[in-house]
Amino acid sequence: MSASLNRVEISTEALRDNFRLCRQLAGDAGIIAMVKADAYGHGMLECAQVFAHEGATDFGVAEAIEGVKLRQAGIEQPIYVFTGIYPEIIPTLFEFELTPIILNRRNIRELSRQAVQRNITMGLHLKIDAGMGRQGCSKEEFPDLVAEINNLAGLEVTGVLAHLPMSDDRASNSTTEIFAEFNSILDGVRRQLAPGCRYHLANSGALFYFSTTRLDLVRPGISLYGCHPGGDCQADPAEGQTLRPVMRFSSRITQLRDIMPGTGLGYGHSYITTRNTKLAVVPLGYANGYLRNLSGKAQVLVRGQKVPTLGRISMNLTLVDVTDIAEVQEGDEVVLLGKQGKQEITATEIATWMNTISYEVLCLFGNLNKRYYVE
Ligand SMILES: *Cc1c(COP(=O)(O)O)cnc(C)c1O
Repeated sequence: MSASLNRVEISTEALRDNFRLCRQLAGDAGIIAMVKADAYGHGMLECAQVFAHEGATDFGVAEAIEGVKLRQAGIEQPIYVFTGIYPEIIPTLFEFELTPIILNRRNIRELSRQAVQRNITMGLHLKIDAGMGRQGCSKEEFPDLVAEINNLAGLEVTGVLAHLPMSDDRASNSTTEIFAEFNSILDGVRRQLAPGCRYHLANSGALFYFSTTRLDLVRPGISLYGCHPGGDCQADPAEGQTLRPVMRFSSRITQLRDIMPGTGLGYGHSYITTRNTKLAVVPLGYANGYLRNLSGKAQVLVRGQKVPTLGRISMNLTLVDVTDIAEVQEGDEVVLLGKQGKQEITATEIATWMNTISYEVLCLFGNLNKRYYVE
């Protein structure tokens, strides 16, 4: 099979270094490596192997089907399924020894029935909404949920968690308030929970900026993939330590053209040349996650120089102004994300142009293009 001109390179060395930095910050806490969404576009199986080798104690996925793939690839650590349970996935949870995150009472009795039938005890992690305002049970529901599970055969509460909405913002009080709320909710039921029950709250933001929230387990995602939760990698080092970008996205110039001033370029002629322009055609567009709303904003690297895209980004084509690059040739590499020579374009920078966050940029590029693993 021939290679694609559009390459997403994943550095396994950078993944490893990022995991090590997270492990250092985690101290005694275990690490649930969050590998949902195909490891934020980096490839779930490949990333999980690196993290498992480096000492990830647990893994987190959105859906049971992802957990099945991890098990089939030989991952033996506990795997948490964050989406919640519905009847169709219950046999899968048992068969592949996946740990469901329990959000409410629904299906608890059915879980118990099947556990008893299989003559095993299934561990459950319960999610409290302690201020995220999204998934989970309320403070009021939580004690009853614990009591109900404790009264059912074949089930055991082995963990309790909550999630944080603003841990990427060091200046916000939200994280410390939710941490306090989480602890106060737990205080009421501590005696009903087994001594080995594990508590977790911290995502990347909390791990980097609110270290007191580490508890028994931490759940980093974006930091493993090289982006500082609070902003750009360079601008925002954690205690003098910097995460390494993992993903690099590149393509090639497939055509070079000399264009007269006053020429409209691409759909809608949203750009009209103002000088003799050397135009490079690059074979990717919104189908590759290089979204149309990057039109008129995005810059790319060619021969180590930052140059602007021109006109509308279309489905599979993007135009670049290479007038100022001496010696430019068809076949030259174009870097959309990552380093070329001394220059770099970060996921956070692209996210700013796209009016989104680095997470979305990584998912789009990584999940819509062919990935290549490099050391
Ligand atoms: C995705 C996710 C995380 C990881 O968050 P990052 O900001 O990427 O570190 C942690 N916890 C839960 C519940 C998540 O869904």
